[in-house]
Amino acid sequence: MALQRWRLICVLAVISLFHGFCNSDKAPDYTFLHDAVLAPPVSFHDYIVIGGGTSGCPLAATLSQGATVLVLERGGSPYGNGNIENIANFDANIAATGPDSPSQQFVSEDGVLNTRARVLGGGSALNAGFYTRASKDYVKEAGWDEKLVEESYEWVESKVAFKPPVQGWQSAVRDGLIEAGVTPDNGFTYEHLLGTKIGGTIFDSSGHRHTAANLLEYAQPENTAVYLFATVHKVLFSTVGERRPRAYGVIFEDKAGRMHGAYLRKKAGNEIIVSAGAMGSPQVLMLSGIGPMQHLKNHGLEVLLDQPMVGQGMADNPMNALFVPTRKPVEVSLIEVVGITSFGSYIETASGSGFGYQMGRPGMLPPPVSGFMNVSLAGGLILEKIMGPISKGHLELRTINPKDNPSVTFNYFKEPEDLRRCVQGMKTIIDVLNSQAMSSFRYNGLPVDALISMMVSSPVNLRPRHLTTAISLEQFCIDTVMTIWHYHGGCQVGRVVDSDYKVIGVDSLRVVDGSTFSASPGTNPQATVMMLGRYMGQKILQGRASN
Ligand SMILES: Cc1cc2nc3c(=O)[nH]c(=O)nc-3n(C[C@H](O)[C@H](O)[C@H](O)COP(=O)(O)OP(=O)(O)OC[C@H]3O[C@@H](n4cnc5c(N)ncnc54)[C@H](O)[C@@H]3O)c2cc1C
Repeated sequence: MALQRWRLICVLAVISLFHGFCNSDKAPDYTFLHDAVLAPPVSFHDYIVIGGGTSGCPLAATLSQGATVLVLERGGSPYGNGNIENIANFDANIAATGPDSPSQQFVSEDGVLNTRARVLGGGSALNAGFYTRASKDYVKEAGWDEKLVEESYEWVESKVAFKPPVQGWQSAVRDGLIEAGVTPDNGFTYEHLLGTKIGGTIFDSSGHRHTAANLLEYAQPENTAVYLFATVHKVLFSTVGERRPRAYGVIFEDKAGRMHGAYLRKKAGNEIIVSAGAMGSPQVLMLSGIGPMQHLKNHGLEVLLDQPMVGQGMADNPMNALFVPTRKPVEVSLIEVVGITSFGSYIETASGSGFGYQMGRPGMLPPPVSGFMNVSLAGGLILEKIMGPISKGHLELRTINPKDNPSVTFNYFKEPEDLRRCVQGMKTIIDVLNSQAMSSFRYNGLPVDALISMMVSSPVNLRPRHLTTAISLEQFCIDTVMTIWHYHGGCQVGRVVDSDYKVIGVDSLRVVDGSTFSASPGTNPQATVMMLGRYMGQKILQGRASN
């Protein structure tokens, strides 16, 4: 128990480095937002969006411009929730447990602690806020219409993206990155450019979070219905008289345990769109009978379509980090700066106090559990995340209860190239630490080796440590890997959905969210996830008009 608690505390401590400060603003006056207990037993719509998350909200807001839309979100509202709105409560938000908490924690089979969203706004209501676009190459490879991509990013940015304050610690890391050769200095930009830059954030200048739920401000209220605490159990299909199975409705459960049916109006072009995220979308497809036949049968599910690719290609970009105690106070900061290296490793940083990580005292590691939460921190975390990743895993159902987490394996560093990128990223972090720019923050008596040992002693995950963990950067990467929560896959384009995001083998069903990605876009994905929601909403309406 004590060890488990210590592990949780350590993970929270790392997470808490994404802290900030803030106050609150007024929630939008949405007339269409209701608890699902108020939903009628049966209703009819042009589009049904499963999941009101980072992609689901912009998608629904866009579709409502030309049709009626129902959004079914299993979580509650982010508005008025101080844990969500206030960056200072970032760790409390993630750590909160309970059947309705916005964060639903899980541990991957790799032994890495993780979390997924369960709230309107999805991951954008939990995340560290960094906002940055995908590279031009990523957009090209995705086969997206570049003009529409640009317009869609701008549509998102005019509501939820801001320029961060860049103070002492963040400036020093930026200068250290430039000294370490991560050049040029690209200043402030949302673009994905080699070199060092300041990116955007979804926290405004007073530290208040703007989530994807704010994109519903664009919605046509008379065309929109959003039900909260509405857990979708399955998509329904008609097979009789159809060329192939056609989605026509969904069954969802409200908080009181009552089941409701929501159905598509009989009109060409009407569709169900799954936007339940990388953990939720493959799960919903499997629960609806689309997935690997034997696996579905093992769970007693009726097989609609044997689709072995559902749940495949799950990936989570590994994150490794060093914590740097500082000899002078640092500002509370989220991720503001990123170094985009030529070898596919991205360096980011956060700093602050209040997470009680007693790592600033050499010789005291690991910190004692007693009094742990009362110690304030002076220091920062410098982390590296690799692009891609190339290593892939898979997702399986544990149960057929849609509220339960599926089991997921990410296979961190299975592919040697991922490990090489991590090692190069860690070497760059070491160069940054040894830069002139960082010298005024560093303790003279705390060399990089001590910082590495400190991290090795910290149970930031449930993985074993080895004799060589502190002396081999390869082993360090493998043993101290954490998540930066950019997991994706499970319903990938070309495998589960086609290039129009239509589920292959059935009609009137699409998936639009991070589960469709084969690689995480940009250095951090949320900008592109929101963009994709807007982009696909536009594409779907265009298709409808030409029907
Ligand atoms: C702690 C954390 C920090 C992060 N930091 C950053 C960052 O700084 N910058 C960045 O760019 N990215 C960050 N990310 C990643 C980013 O937030 C995600 O990649 C993104 O939010 C995923 O969007 P999505 O639409 O695919 O899924 P989600 O946003 O998770 O949306 C899925 C929605 O579907 C709902 N749902 C699932 N199943 C069902 C069901 N059966 N019935 C009804 N509803 C259902 C969920 O409740 C959820 O609201 C972070 C993520 C986390 C968790």
